[in-house]
This record gives sequence, structure tokens and C-alpha cells, in this order.
Amino acid sequence: MFESLEQLKTYEAGKPIELVVREYGIKPQNIIKLASNENPYGPSPKVIEKVRKNATLMHRYPDDSFYELKEGLSKKFDIKSENIIIGAGSDQVLEFAIHGIKPKKVLMAGITFAMYEIFSKQVGAEILKTPSKTHNLEEFYEIYKKEKPEIIFLCIPNNPLGECLNSNEVFDFIEKIDEETLIIIDGAYQEFASFKDKNKEIKPKDILKYKNVLYTGTFSKAYGLGGMRVGYGIANEFIIKNLHKLRPPFNISILSLIASIESLKDKDWVRMGIENNFKEMQKYIDFANENNLEYIESFTNFIVLYINNSTKVANELLKKGIIIRDMASYGFSAIRITIGKPSENDILLKNLRELIEL
Ligand SMILES: *Cc1c(COP(=O)(O)O)cnc(C)c1O
Repeated sequence: MFESLEQLKTYEAGKPIELVVREYGIKPQNIIKLASNENPYGPSPKVIEKVRKNATLMHRYPDDSFYELKEGLSKKFDIKSENIIIGAGSDQVLEFAIHGIKPKKVLMAGITFAMYEIFSKQVGAEILKTPSKTHNLEEFYEIYKKEKPEIIFLCIPNNPLGECLNSNEVFDFIEKIDEETLIIIDGAYQEFASFKDKNKEIKPKDILKYKNVLYTGTFSKAYGLGGMRVGYGIANEFIIKNLHKLRPPFNISILSLIASIESLKDKDWVRMGIENNFKEMQKYIDFANENNLEYIESFTNFIVLYINNSTKVANELLKKGIIIRDMASYGFSAIRITIGKPSENDILLKNLRELIEL
């Protein structure tokens, strides 16, 4: 029983606040969590108000067609509802695609989002990774030609490193790939990347003409709804129709549905979060420059700083109630910091300064 599962690993999520409260006796309100790329400002206050008002509906299932949410997304992206599938986070859409295709081989960047590998191993796929940690499309193409994987994952921009391909390179690449291989473009941080640099913007509308491209997006990052678990996939009608066969009914909750619909309406709030993100990210860049630390230029809401003894640094910060991500498990000494609110970043930087001076 469970022979195939016994060989698999469980996804290690960023440490939850509750764990730090239990282990270090720190009050929840004093904990600074900058480990899971959540939006530090949360959703628009209008979203919270709407959810509050509708809390009495929680005994009802949601509208399983997700009509209004799809309408909102259709407007945002100038596409049709038939091109959209809703998932409990975009993770679930990735799961539908991988479980639906049951690939023998999948191809991804040397270091990229862990769920690609986890879902692929669940269906017994061989995992192919480029030698480069970040996305190098020449390496992708070389391996593709030799191995003909059924799925190629492009994380644009990439988590956990933060780098981002240019959209023109991405489209040139798509043109060279046969239609038997599905290219998944994970756009979890596209709102950040396209704000910072228009050359990085991938419009989901532009991938619809391809038979073999699936774009995924999420409400967990720029829209501040990580805890509500809402994401989406966008593709041509053939792909979407088939993915729907794997979707369980009512796969997001009624309050998640209400929150995500409302969040699409407050564009100013989302823009504020993104603007502050890059303003605050500059503090980390300045810090790195002042201390001769290398960092990866980021098009997301997090930044990777190379730092000696990253595991020790992460543990010392944890004792102070500051949660960040140690990158040591990826084979190099660095930390990934989610950009927080100004006061959170200031406290983290003050502590980091003390730690690296030791
Ligand atoms: C956060 C993230 C997701 C998905 O998050 P959901 O909360 O499941 O929507 C997908 N891909 C990447 C690269 C991410 O960082």
C-alpha cells in the first residue's frame, strides 16, 4: 500500500506564525513573517468589508460556474470565460494539468517552484532540470530536443530566485516547441514584473493562439488573498475543457469567491502594494551594496541575498520572531526575504546588520 507515495517528499511550506509562537514563546503580533511571499498589506479594505457582510452565506456552496469571477478575469485580460479555469490556488491548476497529462518527462529550470516537481513525481514523471539555476532558454531547448518532455515549466518571474525572462524570448521559444509538449507559463508574479519592466509582461491573451500553452495566475500575491486560495488557468478552449474534467465541484469556498471578485475591482489598492514593494525592495538592494553582498535582481515581491552561514542567520532571526527562507537546501548560502511593510523591513534589516557584523 502507498508504495509509490512512500518515495515522495512532502512540500515544506514557509514556517507558520503559529509554530514560532509555540516554539519561542513570542506573541503573534510581534512576529514578522517574510517567508512565503504574501502581500504584507493584505487585500483591499473593500474586500474585507464585503467578506464580513457575506459571512452569513458560509453554509452555501458557491456558484460552481464561478460566473462572476470569470467575468472579472475576462475583463482584466480581454479574453473569454471559456478560456478560464478556477483553482484552489494556481497550485491546483498546475495539479490538474500534470495529473491530466501524466507526463513521462518534464523539464524545468535548475531552481524553480517546488510544486512542479512534486506534482510531476506524483504521476511518476522523470524530472529534467537545466544546468543553470535560473531560466536559460537555450539550455531548455537543448534538453527539449533530446528528451521531448510532455511538459515544460516556465516560471516568469521565477520563484524562489526572482529573475524574469523577457516576453519576446518566451514567444520565440514557444514557436520552436512542437504542439505535443505543453508549455506552462506560471505568472504568479506577473503583476510585479510587468509593473517594473514592460519587456517582461506576458499577456494571457497572447498565448491563446497556441494549442499547447497554459498560463497560470493567482490571487495570493499581488491581490493579497493567499489565505483564500484562489488561482486560475488561462488557455485555449480545448485545454480548459479538458482540465475541467479534473476539477472537483465547489473547489473554492464561497467567501474565497466573493473576496476574489471584489479584489479585482480595487485596482488602486493593488497598484499601491506593488509600488511600495519596489520602493521597499530598494532598502535591501542598498543594504546589499553597502555590505558587499550579492543579490539576484528581482521582478517579484521577494529578494535573494547571498550571505555566509545562511542557516545560522535564518535561525538567529527566527529566535527574534522574524521568519525568512533559508536557501541552503538548494545548495548555496543565501536567504530569500519577502518584501514586507516599511517597519517590518526596517526591523529585519537592523537585525541582519547586527548578525552579519558578528
Ligand atoms: C505562490 C506561487 C504559486 C501559487 O500560489 P497559489 O497560492 O497556489 O495560487 C504558483 N507559482 C509560484 C511560482 C508561486 O510562487
